[in-house]
Amino acid sequence: MWITNGTIADVAIVWARTDAGIRGFLVEKGTKGYTSENIPHKFSLRASITSTLYFDNVRVPERNRLPLAEGLAAPLSCLTQARYGIAWGGVGAAIACYREALTFAKQRILFGEPLANKQIVQARLADMLRRITTGQLLVLQLGRMKDAGTMHHAQVSMAKWNNVRLGLDVARDARDLLGAGGISVECCPIRHAMNLESVITYEGTETVHQLVIGREITGAAAF
Ligand SMILES: Cc1cc2nc3c(=O)[nH]c(=O)nc-3n(C[C@H](O)[C@H](O)[C@H](O)COP(=O)(O)OP(=O)(O)OC[C@H]3O[C@@H](n4cnc5c(N)ncnc54)[C@H](O)[C@@H]3O)c2cc1C
Repeated sequence: MWITNGTIADVAIVWARTDAGIRGFLVEKGTKGYTSENIPHKFSLRASITSTLYFDNVRVPERNRLPLAEGLAAPLSCLTQARYGIAWGGVGAAIACYREALTFAKQRILFGEPLANKQIVQARLADMLRRITTGQLLVLQLGRMKDAGTMHHAQVSMAKWNNVRLGLDVARDARDLLGAGGISVECCPIRHAMNLESVITYEGTETVHQLVIGREITGAAAF
């Protein structure tokens, strides 16, 4: 379940347990026993199709097996790359929300002066910028390590966890700073907040990333 673009994809990459261990397979649209349907009524990622895939005694030819992919390491290595990108995305969403909140705070006049002149509003904006800047530095350094070939998957877990969490926190606070107008579809923070609720779940939930880091520092897998 919960497969992005499942009903419009011509081919699905499916990881299955076989007698020889976990293997990857290409399952083409139209294969007997393979069907899909959309999951309706989502509050989050409404612009993206999310689907359920059904496999009923599906058989695929040997040529559809990914020849070099053996065990869980293959799908997990794909996840590391996707999670790296998502860590940048969390900061991007936060920047959009921060900018909208800052613009609003400067323009909104309350009792004769801009909202941005209030100490607490400035503290909230400064806190958004603090989170954004630390998140940016985290992924910038991660990118340098990726280029150098020294990036570790647990570091990617830390970046995905940190930056999606900061995106959600900044989006939520920006939504509040916009007052009632912040619940309108005209404003981006509530949209980012709703979408980030999916992002914090997919590509490893926040808890799973905490456990990845926990295993790395203690040597004990607590999954
Ligand atoms: C919009 C959207 C698109 C998606 N697209 C794809 C896709 O294209 N391909 C794909 O493969 N998947 C996709 N997913 C699925 C996503 O990866 C899973 O939803 C995610 O991995 C969580 O799995 P689950 O929903 O089964 O939750 P569960 O595993 O049931 O987890 C439920 C809760 O329990 C916690 N939990 C789980 N295990 C433990 C543990 N050992 N200890 C403590 N807490 C734990 C989790 O953190 C979570 O809070 C998508 C999801 C969404 C929402």
